Amino acid sequence: MSEVFEMLRVLSANLGRGPATRRYPAEKRAIFPSSRGRIESVIENCIFCGVCQKRCPADCIVVNKAERTWNLDPYQCIVCGVCVEVCPTKAIAMRTEYRKPRSERTPLTHHQEPGPREGRVEG
Ligand code: SF4
Ligand code: SF4
Repeated sequence: MSEVFEMLRVLSANLGRGPATRRYPAEKRAIFPSSRGRIESVIENCIFCGVCQKRCPADCIVVNKAERTWNLDPYQCIVCGVCVEVCPTKAIAMRTEYRKPRSERTPLTHHQEPGPREGRVEG
């Protein structure tokens, strides 16, 4: 008999509280400030020192100083954040939102034109 009362107690508590789950995707959970979503290149800040390429544990960055390109394979990236920490010019940023799904596995190449540049390129 006590089990029945316990069940009724849990049932009434749950009825008052509402569902524990969200109606995703209509209702999305707020992103945590420390979430590791995706890597973004701020190519105008890059000096092509190659430190990020050397320190990346997943071997997914290729820097070409002569051609002024910074290349990331986002499908190989484990979003550890090491490149963000070691970059001396803040040319890489961690974004909290996840990157959008893509239908093709293509590496992302960012090229820096000589001279001052504005704008950011998603990585
Ligand atoms: S992104 Fe940063 S660490 Fe990587 S090559 Fe550019 S300046 Fe160097
Ligand atoms: S977040 Fe980690 S795995 Fe991804 S590019 Fe940077 S160092 Fe490499």
